[in-house]
Amino acid sequence: MILRKIPHSETSEILNVISPDFGKLALIAKGSRRQKSQFAGILIPLQLLQLDYYHKSTRSIQNLKEASITERFQNIQNDLEHSTIATIMTEITLKTAQENTETKDKFSFLVNAFRHLNKPCKYPTNALIRFWLRWLDLAGYRPNFSACEHCKNQLSRANFSTQTGDIYCHRCANKSNISENTLAVLRDFQNTKTDNIDAQINKKISKEGLVFLTQFSKFHIETMSNLKSLIIYNRMFS
Ligand SMILES: [Zn+2]
Repeated sequence: MILRKIPHSETSEILNVISPDFGKLALIAKGSRRQKSQFAGILIPLQLLQLDYYHKSTRSIQNLKEASITERFQNIQNDLEHSTIATIMTEITLKTAQENTETKDKFSFLVNAFRHLNKPCKYPTNALIRFWLRWLDLAGYRPNFSACEHCKNQLSRANFSTQTGDIYCHRCANKSNISENTLAVLRDFQNTKTDNIDAQINKKISKEGLVFLTQFSKFHIETMSNLKSLIIYNRMFS
């Protein structure tokens, strides 16, 4: 899957992709910006591709040889909100996946999230929150929504500290930035095994949840930063 495309010279492009066997990879698609290129209409993000390339361990950017589309996500591509959410998932992957390591679990998780998002659903933000929470699980950073990091009491309202990266109860923190309702949703999405999560959640909860996920990820994952696609999403849909 293509995570990012950057124009290179007059006619070529550099692709950052994620693959099941080698994690994140950089590929150069020579001549791909020419109208008659063999890659025309194929090297598009938000779809599953079969990419063949010449591998040379001395090179940091590999040479793309052939490309074909394996799975299109038509409903994602035809819907602005769904495609923006898929782009946020892609950006999270770009910023946090590792290079040159086998990433079968993360890769298939991303593909499954796309397959789910490709089905009609009313509240695609749910899919994003769930994806992000599960992605953090896979990366080894599972937020603790059950007990306060300080007093160990069960959380009702909570406060995420951008100083320590931990979650405290509203008493210990003396303030709260995660409401009771938001906490319940985050806990629910973290533990649910089903993809069927198209329940209505009010915008305040999803916004609070996404702010928390951004701050938490930025604290714990060095390569994470503010997501451009999420800023765009908030401008368009909230
Ligand atoms: Zn406490």
